[in-house]
Amino acid sequence: MATTEWNRRHILSLEDFTAAEYDIILQTAASFREVLTRRTRKVPTLQGRLITNMFFEPSTRTRSSFELAAKRLSADVLNFAPGTSSLTKGETILDTAKTYLAMGTDMMVVRHQQSGVPQTIAWELDRLGAQVGVLNAGDGLHAHPSQALLDLFTIAQHFDPDAPRTALLAGKKIAIVGDIVHSRVARSNLWSLTACGADVHLAAPPTLVSKPFADAFASESGSLSVHWQLEPALENADIVMTLRLQKERMSSNLLPSLREYHQQFGITRDRLALCQPHARIMHPGPVNRGVELSSEVMDDARISLVQTQVTSGVAVRMALLYLMGGGKSVA
Ligand code: ASP
Repeated sequence: MATTEWNRRHILSLEDFTAAEYDIILQTAASFREVLTRRTRKVPTLQGRLITNMFFEPSTRTRSSFELAAKRLSADVLNFAPGTSSLTKGETILDTAKTYLAMGTDMMVVRHQQSGVPQTIAWELDRLGAQVGVLNAGDGLHAHPSQALLDLFTIAQHFDPDAPRTALLAGKKIAIVGDIVHSRVARSNLWSLTACGADVHLAAPPTLVSKPFADAFASESGSLSVHWQLEPALENADIVMTLRLQKERMSSNLLPSLREYHQQFGITRDRLALCQPHARIMHPGPVNRGVELSSEVMDDARISLVQTQVTSGVAVRMALLYLMGGGKSVA
């Protein structure tokens, strides 16, 4: 696995990632995917290194996936839980990070409900001269890079299981449907998919996506369109990414009702007939069954990539930790 072209200590946003960097990640993740099929699904790559998971916001998939990825790389893992920590006694987040730094943490995986917290921790660690990488595991509405990267890997692998690479996405029609404006997953995917040359179509009610929102992600490589109806986004789509309605981030009633949303934007088997015959459905989870997509669609392994996304997540997160740790000598 070549790490020579990788020179990022932190992964905070995908805004300035290049296609070459995405290809390094895809290639590295494909190697780790192979490791995960072996009888002993573990490599000694990060033996003796310490990874601290700092999740200030609830998480099922992402936290477990990072923990498993670190363990499969033989790293030691600390899991910080805010409810039982000194945060409840008034300790600041930066002091918490410095505490884990003093214990010898090599990488911090940070999730927070406020945008910018992982960046602030990274700045502070850099200011202190610590050679510690920070990986943003989801901050507010801002970014969720590892989710978008596992989505990219899942899509590329769907088109070519043996050689997943960015070129496979060029010109592919990818519909992103749902609560786009509140979604850090959508934002990160917009950077990566357009940089890889995909033809991205956003579909949501006008309260959940706007044209100025999309303009911020304009790219020279891919194209981006906004629709306030589902059908034009689904027509001939290769991939349909559905997004959860983020009720916890909605400040007021932006939808008449969940039932009405499902009637207009829910993905059902009938609606999939508009897409390419080989089209696949994705969702980052957690899913509101019967709202963003019907249970029938979600559970049909012939069309749903939802479980594949979870499996891909471990290989991709192994790749990210491996690449971020690549600057140091590995036993
Ligand atoms: N799990 C993803 C996130 O943390 C998506 C979601 O919560 O809807 O952003």
